[in-house]
Amino acid sequence: MTVVTRFAPSPTGFLHIGGARTALFNWLFARHHDRHGDGGKYLLRVEDTDRKRSTEAAVEAIYDGLQWLGLDWDGEAISQFSRVERHRAAVEQLLADGHAYNCYCTPEELAELRAEARANGQRWRYDGRWRDRDPSDAPAGVAPAVRLKAPPDGETLIEDLVQGKVRVANGELDDMILMRADGTPTYMLAVVVDDHDMGITHVIRGDDHLTNAFRQKQLFNAFGWDTPAFAHIPLIHGADGAKLSKRHGALGVDAYRDQGFLPEALTNYLLRLGWSHGDDEIISTDEAISWFGLENVGKSPARFDVEKLTALNGNYIRQCDDHRLVELILPALTIELGREPSQPLKERLERGMRGLKDRAKTVPELVESAMLYVHERRIKLNDKALKLVDEEAQYRLQSVRDGFAALDQWTEDALEAWVKNFAEETGTKMGKVAQPLRAVLTGTTVSPSIFEVLVVLGREESLGRLGDAVDDA
Ligand code: GLU
Repeated sequence: MTVVTRFAPSPTGFLHIGGARTALFNWLFARHHDRHGDGGKYLLRVEDTDRKRSTEAAVEAIYDGLQWLGLDWDGEAISQFSRVERHRAAVEQLLADGHAYNCYCTPEELAELRAEARANGQRWRYDGRWRDRDPSDAPAGVAPAVRLKAPPDGETLIEDLVQGKVRVANGELDDMILMRADGTPTYMLAVVVDDHDMGITHVIRGDDHLTNAFRQKQLFNAFGWDTPAFAHIPLIHGADGAKLSKRHGALGVDAYRDQGFLPEALTNYLLRLGWSHGDDEIISTDEAISWFGLENVGKSPARFDVEKLTALNGNYIRQCDDHRLVELILPALTIELGREPSQPLKERLERGMRGLKDRAKTVPELVESAMLYVHERRIKLNDKALKLVDEEAQYRLQSVRDGFAALDQWTEDALEAWVKNFAEETGTKMGKVAQPLRAVLTGTTVSPSIFEVLVVLGREESLGRLGDAVDDA
């Protein structure tokens, strides 16, 4: 059987972290089955029936977030709103088959019934008063809502692939509305018709939808359609154990992108949030596709921990291709610098990336440390760096410059050997030479190994920067 999954976000203006994880699990499940020869498809359905919220920008934000994470969907994204005629037709079909009925209760009548129940301390449930009434009783001039003729007895059982067997007594569920009096289909109806028409075999989503699943199953049954398998994943909670909300910080995937998280770090992190494969923490997409299955989805809520995500991100930065990292930080570098670095500067930066990426946890950190390679002379020294270049240091740096200038080879080994020798001969501590050297070469007090910096900058630029500093003496 070909596995068909879907991600069905409602546009909210961004791709929520929880939604991104749901998308990831659906994507992996489909890709896993596809790789293992069963065939697998992952579809995208935008649940855009709330016309006020579903602006073009809000829908675009979802596409954007998914594309950035690499969660490509098969075929065209489907707009739920565009299928409204199909939804209405499906309701008509249920009416014709006797699985649904017109309910002529007015909103005022329902409100009254609800208030009455509340006054008696009871939970209100629609009592099915129009269920078996003769259509000729219909009041003139009142547009009816359409309700499902839900089974009054027995139970509805869901064998959830994550939650196990969950059941509800049918008496607990009233005859839900499928189409409002104004002709708009309800969410519950639209989801079921769409999942059926899209051939969805597995519905993987947050467990806040578990209670909906009972009603949806009743609806699948009424249509005479197969119910897809359900897998309800526990929601993500904040570090304090409460459901993830705004007060826990950034909720949208875009905020993590802007903060310099790599998409593969975020997907790896989201994957581990609620799913495990032994003790593995760093899992490539390729491995995830091979290993992913619903049996290893945990049953308790996972906690979102930015520190773990940050550590994982550092890991991915260190593994990332140097050229890609240059491209990644280019927009931020351009802003910092006030212009785009020239081609030779970009090349220099790429040569220096190896040492830079080993030290950076996030892209902003990487940008900060990368500035040393894209500044042009004269470079500015920050306050801490300036303090290191006192008179004594300048005097020493003059000797260093002359010594470096006389070197035959401009390699890390040759430069280091010269500095060591100089320190020994003059009875100076290595740090007393290396620190001012770092200050004048980089403008800061932290950088990769100073010998690496010298080689990446090259002889001419290095001697130039040294000269700029000592000539001021
Ligand atoms: N649109 C729903 C949401 O964003 C998801 C519905 C579903 O997956 O069935 O929560």
